[in-house]
Amino acid sequence: MTVRNGREFLSIPGPTTVPDEVLSAMHRPAIDIYSGPLEGITLSLLDDLRRIFRTKGRTYIYIANGHGAWEAALTNTLTRGDKILVLQSGQFATSWGDMAAMIGIEVEVLPGDWRRAVDPAALEARLRADTGHQIKAVLVVQIDTASSVVNDVPALRRAMEAAGHPALYMVDAIASLATMPFEMDDWGVDLAVTGSQKGLMTPPGLSFVAAGTRAVAAHQQAGLRTGYWDWTARESDIHYKKYCGTPPEHLLFGLRKAFDMLFEEGLENVIERHRLLAGAVHRAAAAWAEGGAIELNITEPAERSHSVTTLLFNDGRDPMPLRDYCQQKIGVVVGVGIGALGGQALRIAHMGHVNAPMVLGTLGGFETGLIALGIPHGSGGLRAATEWLGRSVAA
Ligand SMILES: *Cc1c(COP(=O)(O)O)cnc(C)c1O
Repeated sequence: MTVRNGREFLSIPGPTTVPDEVLSAMHRPAIDIYSGPLEGITLSLLDDLRRIFRTKGRTYIYIANGHGAWEAALTNTLTRGDKILVLQSGQFATSWGDMAAMIGIEVEVLPGDWRRAVDPAALEARLRADTGHQIKAVLVVQIDTASSVVNDVPALRRAMEAAGHPALYMVDAIASLATMPFEMDDWGVDLAVTGSQKGLMTPPGLSFVAAGTRAVAAHQQAGLRTGYWDWTARESDIHYKKYCGTPPEHLLFGLRKAFDMLFEEGLENVIERHRLLAGAVHRAAAAWAEGGAIELNITEPAERSHSVTTLLFNDGRDPMPLRDYCQQKIGVVVGVGIGALGGQALRIAHMGHVNAPMVLGTLGGFETGLIALGIPHGSGGLRAATEWLGRSVAA
């Protein structure tokens, strides 16, 4: 017997739940790409990306997932043989670095901890030692979706300044944009990337790059530029060239609707909703952790992200039976551990189009699984989550 029929709660860290309004906006015939309203949609999206990244810089839309935006960031600003410094705090910055290595960039990883945010003092010390300014760019993720850490993006920039280092500062905001504050210009970020399928509530297939003045200046000298990713080519007034080919019309219709929804709610409210819902997940997880079998991967509460929560399984316990139970019996789908946490963790996503019933439903399903499988856990996880929301969301 199962109790899963009904709407499935997809609680993986991307793709996230696509709102019905976004799906409906995509359900229409194709339209002309050479004239008419599509051009206006493109320009409105490029402008609204500036609003969401909080930058006066330039924005670009790629028909690609986040990995494509990574490659666009690298090829538009760097030259074969350049050196970059990748700040480790989980899986994703180092994967970005692996792509850089494949195209001939020299990659140094500043070793980090999968359970903590990047230490700004370690960055400052490494940059101070680079007296010849060999390092051309520093790469970091704001939220690492594997470890579920949130890095302190402005503090890392201050560390670069304290070291007096001119490297470009590149930030992956794929799992953080529209879930936690991001202030590209105020924080001194030179280049930022994101994707459509996480906080932006749109199907996978689009990714975005925002470039500030220093990144645009680096672009003029960059030796790795290629036809498809090239910013200069995409600056063309010809609509077709902004996508280096046929625009992804239906994804653009969906994204337009998703942006309208974000602005209607208000970006600050969107971010506050994520903070409140993350608080519910963190409290439930802390209650479960009292049983000793599972724990929050990120040890420092202030470093826990508001979009995804990674739960570690102790004593070699296999997390997959719980994941399978949640999916097959309950109708809740949580993410698996990846990278160094493969086979040792599960990830509960709480980003994008999520509200309290969805998060509480996911937590309730997870807790049901802990009970069904006899996994030792502190009782009252769901109660801790509702206590938090009941106290935080004023009547
Ligand atoms: C999802 C994700 C990526 C990769 O995006 P894809 O669309 O899967 O290529 C990169 N960085 C972070 C932080 C992510 O969460």
